[in-house]
This record gives sequence, structure tokens and C-alpha cells, in this order.
Amino acid sequence: MTPAEPTTTDTAQPHPTPAVFFGHGSPMNALEQNRYSRAWANFGRSISKPRAILVISAHWYGNFTAVTAMPRPRTIHDFYGFPQRLFEVQYPALGDPELAQEVADIAQPTRVGLDQDSWGIDHGTWSVLVHAFPAADIPVVQLSIHARRDFDAHFELGARLAPLRDRGVLIVGSGNIVHNLRALSWSQPELGFDWACRFDDAAREVLTTNPAGAPALQLHPDYEQSSPTPDHFIPLLTIAGLASASDRSLEVLVDGYAFGSLSMASYTLDVKCQTEKDPRPSAGLPDPALIAPEDANV
Ligand code: ZN
Repeated sequence: MTPAEPTTTDTAQPHPTPAVFFGHGSPMNALEQNRYSRAWANFGRSISKPRAILVISAHWYGNFTAVTAMPRPRTIHDFYGFPQRLFEVQYPALGDPELAQEVADIAQPTRVGLDQDSWGIDHGTWSVLVHAFPAADIPVVQLSIHARRDFDAHFELGARLAPLRDRGVLIVGSGNIVHNLRALSWSQPELGFDWACRFDDAAREVLTTNPAGAPALQLHPDYEQSSPTPDHFIPLLTIAGLASASDRSLEVLVDGYAFGSLSMASYTLDVKCQTEKDPRPSAGLPDPALIAPEDANV
């Protein structure tokens, strides 16, 4: 009797699991159907169901590297000034302590703490996953951003995570390539300032041709204005590192601007997604007379 030939219908995926960077913008996108949230949903429909999701969110940013390792992460409502219905959103995905340990192992020599009770699933994660994976039936683990590491270190950590793609893990970065809350312009909900467009265009050129050049984007003349704090830019470096490790480039999932100084661009790795024209713009932000946007933790 001859041994059976391996088939591609086994649960093992024949190709590395795709990856994605989501430009999340306002947390209110969680509750709205618009061109961005629909693109995120299209991404979710375009890939095979992953074993688990590992998210690098702009909103878990501190002087440490840690992964959420609890079996049941809580939904965190880490923003201010939004309607009550946004505080009522729950994303009840399970955690994955086994994956958390795998991340800690694979990230060496970076030391990764196993967080049992301080974090959970923040809005950088759930505001996009409610659209991409609305059933919340895939375990979710978050990996924090160490604020004191340089851009090369974030990029290299992303590259080190690449073998997880062969184990069925979807790696997600969630931030915004241009994110300047002090410069928001309420009169242009769908436009970008010239400097924002220049930086966003430069990032697109790098990401779609040579992701290894992503750390050097901090030298671009419009970087400082586009990213006055690096928390929303760094998740992109993780995904660029992943792409570079596979010798691949990224593709635009959706792009556009909100309020002059937010780029809503999202990028995918190793997946073709459906595209559709949807004219509806990004969700809005709280009334600036009630709370300054830089105090809303968007
Ligand atoms: Zn944010």
C-alpha cells in the first residue's frame, strides 16, 4: 500500500496567512458602514479563517513589551467624549495563552511579558475587528508597543514574527500613517492637507515597492507633522517587517483622509480583496467644544 499523497485540503494552509495594517481613525467607525469599515469587512471575507489573530495596536503603548495572555480578555473602552453606545460595544473573542507564549518565544532576544490582568482588547483592535470578523469567534492576542525602542527594532520584531504566518496566525497592525490630532480640520472631513498627502504618498511608494524602507520614512520632511507621536505609525513598521521577511510588498486595501490630518489608508499582505466604491466618509469625532480631539485618545 502506498502512502497517501499530502493534499491541500488538510487544515494546514498551503500559503502563509495574510497580514494587514488597518488605518482605524475614529473609534466611531466601529458603529458605521462607510468606505473604510466596508473595506475592513471585505478583508475579513477574503481570507481563510485564521487560527488566531495577533494585533499590534497603537493604543497599547508603554515602556515595556508584553502580550495579553489571559484566556478571556476584556473589551477596553479607552477613549473619551464619545456616545454611550460606543462604550457599550463588546468584542467577546477569547484569548489564546498558547499563542501568547509562542510570541514570547519567537520574539527573543526581545523580552516579552505575559500580561494576565492589565490589558485586553482595546479600541484600536475591536473597532476594526467588529467589521472584519464580526462573529468574534477567533481568539485575539495583543502585543504592546515599546515606546523606547527605535524604528529599526519595531521593524525587526515584525520580521521575527513572520513564522507565525505559517502557523495560521493573522497578524494585524492597527494605527494611522498620518495621525495629527492637533491639526484636525472640521471643515474638510474627507480631505488631507498637502503635507499629509505628501507623506501618505511617500509611504505608499515605499510599502508597495520596498517595505524594507519603512523605518527610513521617519527622515521624510513631512514625517514630524504627520506623526507628532509615533504610536499610530509604529504598527505599520511591524507589518512592513513581516512583508520584508517574506520578500513581498504590500497592497493598498483602501485609502483616503479624514479631517485633514488623518490618513485612513490600509494595506494588505498576500491577499487579493474585493473592492467596491463606497462614497461614505470616515466616521466623525466628538464636538471639539466639549473635548479637544487630542484628549479623546483617538
Ligand atoms: Zn487610534
